[in-house]
Amino acid sequence: MAQTVLPGFPINRPRRLRLLPGLRDLVAEARLHPNMFMLPIFVSEHHEKPSPIESLPGHYYYPPNSPELIKSIQQSLELGVKSFILFGRPSHKDDLASRAYASDGPVQSALRNIRSELGYEPVIATDLCICSYHSSGHCGVPGKCRIGYCVDNDSTLKLYQKIAVSQAEAGSDIIAPSGMMDGQVNAIREALDSNGYSDISIMAYSAKFASNFYGPFRDVLESAPKWGDRRSYQADFRNARDALVEVALDIKEGADIVMVKPALAYLDIISLVKKEFPYIPLAAYNVSGEYMMVELMSRSGFADKKALMLEILTSIRRAGADIIITYHALEAARLLVEV
Ligand SMILES: [Zn+2]
Repeated sequence: MAQTVLPGFPINRPRRLRLLPGLRDLVAEARLHPNMFMLPIFVSEHHEKPSPIESLPGHYYYPPNSPELIKSIQQSLELGVKSFILFGRPSHKDDLASRAYASDGPVQSALRNIRSELGYEPVIATDLCICSYHSSGHCGVPGKCRIGYCVDNDSTLKLYQKIAVSQAEAGSDIIAPSGMMDGQVNAIREALDSNGYSDISIMAYSAKFASNFYGPFRDVLESAPKWGDRRSYQADFRNARDALVEVALDIKEGADIVMVKPALAYLDIISLVKKEFPYIPLAAYNVSGEYMMVELMSRSGFADKKALMLEILTSIRRAGADIIITYHALEAARLLVEV
């Protein structure tokens, strides 16, 4: 057994370091910590009290002004989960997406509630898109184009600027544009800077793929498009190069954090982005379909839910994510605290 596995690495019995739990922990490369999780929170103008979300078991719609919203954030903070991303479900949709930028919109009201009760202890990111606010269900404003009817890029940017400023006014720490419009980071950065918000960060959904893993989320926010699909603006999952181009553009336009979404079927993309752009924090969104796969597999008795969840989150970390946006944040944090 004197042969070496690799030149310069005379390891011929790799099982030695796997013998004891303590040894395995000692040499673990990829480690999870509750601080790296960002928890999605849904604030809804449809609900007068916290209501369970059927398509995301374990999660709730919170009325923006409710004390329960504050309580749930406090409980998360106690577990070490310190950052949150807010999604709004408005009372109604219209052709202007007006509840997305209204000063009393769901996200803005929730932000004011959180700031008045908890100050700046929690880090609050705000998703910026119009798909749950616009009657079309698209992430951009529909308009005429040479093939008929499309999502119009540049008029959408103006709307995004308005939403960004209203979220900043209400107290957002991180604006997170998710609509995949060209130039969105630049437009939002300009709007923030010219309104005195140069210290508010942008987390860009840079490499957001047109994925089949978003089903439960669309149900949560009733944000499915009314016509067509999102493939004219979200990235094509056949192309890794789309991720590199989008991330490069977003960094150039001023993104502070870039993101790959979804995570599990895109670990190669996470790894590639980390390798090519090591100097910017990288977030990965462990999306609703991934969450439901764990839920359904464990419910059917094929896997231990906790072990499966930790394996998936660790794989996302191992691939290179610095931040994991996940519906498992609290469950995983509880396990990590117990350890
Ligand atoms: Zn959207």
